[in-house]
Amino acid sequence: MPPSSTSPDNTRDDHDDLVFLDEHPAPATAGGASHVWRVMIIDDDEDVHSTTTFALGNLDMQHRPLEFVHAYSAGQARELLRTEADIAVILLDVVMEQDDAGLHLVRYIRETLKLADVRIILRTGQPGYAPEIDAIRDFDINDYKTKSELTRIKLFTTVTAAIRSYEQIRAISANRRGLDQVVQASTELMALHGVHNFAAGVLAQVADILAMPANGVLCVQECADPTHPDQLQIVATAGASRRLGTGLLGQREDAAIHDALERTIAAHRNIYDAGYVTLYFAGKACRDFVAYLVLSRPLDDIDQRLLEVFCSNVSVGLHNVELVSHLHNAAFYDQLSKLPNRTRLVEILDATLAGPGRADATLSLVDLDHFAETNDALGHHFGDTLLVAVAGRLQTSLGQELTVARIGGDIFSVLGDASAVNPARILALFEAPFPIDGQEVQLSATLGLVRLGEHDGTGADALKDADIALKRAKLQQRAGHFYFSRSMGVEIRERVRLMHALRTGFSKGELSVMYQPQIDLATRRPVGAEALLRWCGADGKFISPDRFIPIAEYSGLIIDIGEWVLRAACQEVVRLRAAGYRDFTMSVNVSQVQFRHPYFLEMLRSALTDTNAPPENIELEITESMAMEEPDLLIKMLAQIKHTGVSIAIDDFGTGFSSLSYLQRLQVDKLKIDRAFVTEITGSARGSSIAEMVIQLGRNLGLSVIAEGVEDERQAQILQALGCPMAQGFLFARPMAVPALYEWLSNDALHRAA
Ligand code: C2E
Ligand code: CA
Ligand code: CA
Repeated sequence: MPPSSTSPDNTRDDHDDLVFLDEHPAPATAGGASHVWRVMIIDDDEDVHSTTTFALGNLDMQHRPLEFVHAYSAGQARELLRTEADIAVILLDVVMEQDDAGLHLVRYIRETLKLADVRIILRTGQPGYAPEIDAIRDFDINDYKTKSELTRIKLFTTVTAAIRSYEQIRAISANRRGLDQVVQASTELMALHGVHNFAAGVLAQVADILAMPANGVLCVQECADPTHPDQLQIVATAGASRRLGTGLLGQREDAAIHDALERTIAAHRNIYDAGYVTLYFAGKACRDFVAYLVLSRPLDDIDQRLLEVFCSNVSVGLHNVELVSHLHNAAFYDQLSKLPNRTRLVEILDATLAGPGRADATLSLVDLDHFAETNDALGHHFGDTLLVAVAGRLQTSLGQELTVARIGGDIFSVLGDASAVNPARILALFEAPFPIDGQEVQLSATLGLVRLGEHDGTGADALKDADIALKRAKLQQRAGHFYFSRSMGVEIRERVRLMHALRTGFSKGELSVMYQPQIDLATRRPVGAEALLRWCGADGKFISPDRFIPIAEYSGLIIDIGEWVLRAACQEVVRLRAAGYRDFTMSVNVSQVQFRHPYFLEMLRSALTDTNAPPENIELEITESMAMEEPDLLIKMLAQIKHTGVSIAIDDFGTGFSSLSYLQRLQVDKLKIDRAFVTEITGSARGSSIAEMVIQLGRNLGLSVIAEGVEDERQAQILQALGCPMAQGFLFARPMAVPALYEWLSNDALHRAA
């Protein structure tokens, strides 16, 4: 007999008389082999085949009939087993070609073909011949029966039990495979960024788990949105459903899908139908996700259970991924302007530096001038609106290829091709005013730029360099912009080194004060001195105050150092008075940083009382540029200082832009003509013009005037002729340490006596 496969119908054809077998018509087997239980009969005795099919033909388990596969030798069985799938039970004769052909076949089935699920029932015609117990255990044999033992009823129960066992084994292994897949799928999904990717991944993974092509749509419904009560927003599509696109799921053309999804949301659970399944992903914060998948085959229990597990896993994931997107957004984007923030810019810079566009790329920081004042004056809401307007203009006017970011309160950045990121183009954007709340607000900006092609370092370093360039641009007022150059970086490092050295130098007593006499031009007699700071470094070299004072100011060290100088000067005044120089005025330089310090007045008062220095012998020098900034604060401060009894001189006068009316409001006592204008008296054709004007101004305002940097006699004479009462300079004396000062003063007294 040829090898064949018999369906129950065939069986009926073969056994016309067995009409009773037709009690349960077989359901259609269109779904494939899995809709029948396949039983393989392997026996060299043809009668056994027919009696077996006769005995089992009407067996029906869970509405699945049996289908028989026949093999008449172990060799034929081997052939068939390689191609026939889904065999549930094998009824196997032990003795065929050889006495133990069946046992060899079992080994082949389990070890070579690795068919672990199939249940095997051994049958033997020879009573008394039994395989070893070991073989039964090792090869996972379900049953061992002699043929005579297997009465029809016995055979029926044995095969039923074997099929049940097969079904359980299949369910367990399918579950395990499926669960592995679910776990794997969830892990893969977590690696995706953003809700859209995640949702697309969900559609792909579901299809994978069900082993069918992905075809479906995943939507979100926001129940919190009262304006769109039941609008389904498409998050992802797959397969033929791609035609749905993105946006709202249209109710007209996709009524069936829409309807199924609505029912799913209402029911809060998956719905299984013949042609589709809808999945429900319980959302947090009133956002439910639902998916609609077109099925290419009906789903069985295992599929459904896997989908339940998958959905509960993924619900958490969808929520998390939304949360992460939200956090990502908060971490990398400025909430006000919606532009990338500093952190994100550094990432983009790193990518640019690693990419091909590096050579042509330029980064520019755009700092809004005097924004803080605008903000204070007009309110934070106004300031915010203005920042949004600036963000919008930068973004829309410079072109889409550029990255515009907001990296700090009033600092934006523009990154892109050098041709687009150029100072003229960016600064031109600030020419037109910004219309805010019906007002026209005029802004200006200062730029710090870095050419990335010349940069070696990270994105964060590039940003630092741009910041250095920006600070430089701001220092050089009206420059508007500055490009970073490598020497600036070196300079910065040098400054940092100097700052540390100054801090330790100050605590180690490397600082000292020298005194440069100031004289009355008419009598050439000393009237006072200016206290000037000196720093002799650890290596014995003097470092110029022009270098270290800015660093002391920048680092805040000037607060302590300045107080120390003031106290030293006060103490010296007390000693000088004791030595007979009673009308001696000591000038002390005060930097802006000190002046702005909230405890400056307190510090001044206690220095005076602690040292017992008479305030009328102390004069503070403030620079003219300092007098220019924050006029209101300065006027108030100066009034309070005057109350202590000390006098005030404006240093470097003539270099700033003080207006006359402003000068009148400032309670100062003296103007100090800058050395540059003293040099000019003899050095330039313009003659004495500026010095002369300052002298006249002093006279008109009732202020004293002193000229500094007087180096030769001619300068002294011209100044005197112009009516300048006092002078200071190398012509008379250099800054001197205390012993030298006393010597100089006593020489002067001797000279006078002579
Ligand atoms: P400044 O207040 O304008 O001080 C005058 C500077 O001119 C001093 O330089 C002085 O040595 C120098 N000088 C005096 N006469 C002549 C001259 O005839 N020809 C020339 N070429 N130079 C002359 P120095 O001591 O190097 O101080 C530089 C600057 O450092 C000062 O300028 C002042 O702004 C700052 N400074 C010095 N000591 C202190 C201090 O104790 N506190 C603060 N805040 N700043 C200080
Ligand atoms: Ca000075
Ligand atoms: Ca000066």
